[in-house]
Amino acid sequence: MSRIALNTKQRQQLLAGSDRCVLCGLCLPYCPTYQRSRCEGESPRGRVTLIQALLSGQIEVSSAAIKPLDNCLLCGNCEAFCPSQVPYAMLLDTLRSALVRSGKKSRPWLLRGLLAGVRQPRVMQRLARWGGRYRRSAVYQWLQVRLPSAIALRHQQIPVAGEAVLQANYPAIGASGGRVVLLRGCMGDAFEQQTLHDSVTLLTRLGRQVILPPAQCCGALHQHNGEAAQAAQMLAALRQQLVVEGAAQKIESVLYSVGGCHGQYRQLQHEFPLQDLISYFANIDLAPLKLQPTALRVAVHEPCSSRNLLKNSLLIYRLLAQIPAITLLPLSASRYCCGAAGSFMLTDPQAAALYRAPYIEEIQQLAPDLVVTPNLGCQLHLYAGLSHLPVLHPVSLLCRALPDAQ
Ligand code: SF4
Ligand code: SF4
Repeated sequence: MSRIALNTKQRQQLLAGSDRCVLCGLCLPYCPTYQRSRCEGESPRGRVTLIQALLSGQIEVSSAAIKPLDNCLLCGNCEAFCPSQVPYAMLLDTLRSALVRSGKKSRPWLLRGLLAGVRQPRVMQRLARWGGRYRRSAVYQWLQVRLPSAIALRHQQIPVAGEAVLQANYPAIGASGGRVVLLRGCMGDAFEQQTLHDSVTLLTRLGRQVILPPAQCCGALHQHNGEAAQAAQMLAALRQQLVVEGAAQKIESVLYSVGGCHGQYRQLQHEFPLQDLISYFANIDLAPLKLQPTALRVAVHEPCSSRNLLKNSLLIYRLLAQIPAITLLPLSASRYCCGAAGSFMLTDPQAAALYRAPYIEEIQQLAPDLVVTPNLGCQLHLYAGLSHLPVLHPVSLLCRALPDAQ
């Protein structure tokens, strides 16, 4: 184990955390990798045992030995159901970080590109626009049906990015009810303009002035891919940005759309009024929006981040139920990760498509008018598998129910 770069504190954290596991196996029915493989090594219990074996030196580090750790989707189901409160995400993040520092973990070029790209949001935005135009072109359609299936899976992952440009500041419409900061994250300008734009529409009509600071990554992708030091730097830069915004004006709430970033944002929650969009909109009075009857059948995806991190899945339904005449169709497949899993859909698209398959089947059976999910990664991943159906953030659906959108 001496060859894995761990300081005494990290080693003690790993030992204490993994020792909490009593090997009861209650987590197994909730683990998507175990359910798919039926292999003990691909279960939370198996991974905790593997971590202990790596710590004690019983197992030498090799890419084959640590593969089960790479395969974990970090969905959080095991932590949510574990009676011993094994801090599973901390164990994985700490060990992955140590393996990267020790040069024991190689990463595919696509992941390296993504980790570098999120630090350069403008480059990301430009690439996304080119990708979006290509995705909407006839050439894309022509090629997609002719490519070999493995390449078609990658080709299908080119996301549809929008063209809108978001301003830095939007005044309230009518009497001002306060100021909110809306975070763009690292991907917002590239892939989430619609969600951000629709959030601004709702917020300004509810009397909020909306400030959008420049794009800043929170470091979540780095944190889960073994780059803890980089993740901490990015979070510190975001904190500094919020200190500046907070000093300039009194802020009611700092809002973010991507639930998967909550693990990072919650580290700042004691200093700033951070809240995800679903929790915010579900807990304020939407009557001034005069939402109109919308007879749509909507399939609702509950991302792992909503179920296990934010624990606000039910709020998605409560929020959307404020649209008169809407029919909400919960997706039972949501009990397991859809395979997006942060960067997993890029690093292992074949496996990611297998985890997505039950969703596609259920959505096809339900035949909804559209799908909603509050997580950007899941939105892109589900859309890539559906293509013909819109996959929206719930705030975009609220926007479609505004009187002038009918
Ligand atoms: S439920 Fe918790 S204690 Fe039981 S095997 Fe799974 S991780 Fe270990
Ligand atoms: S985080 Fe999800 S995929 Fe990973 S071990 Fe836990 S339940 Fe399984």
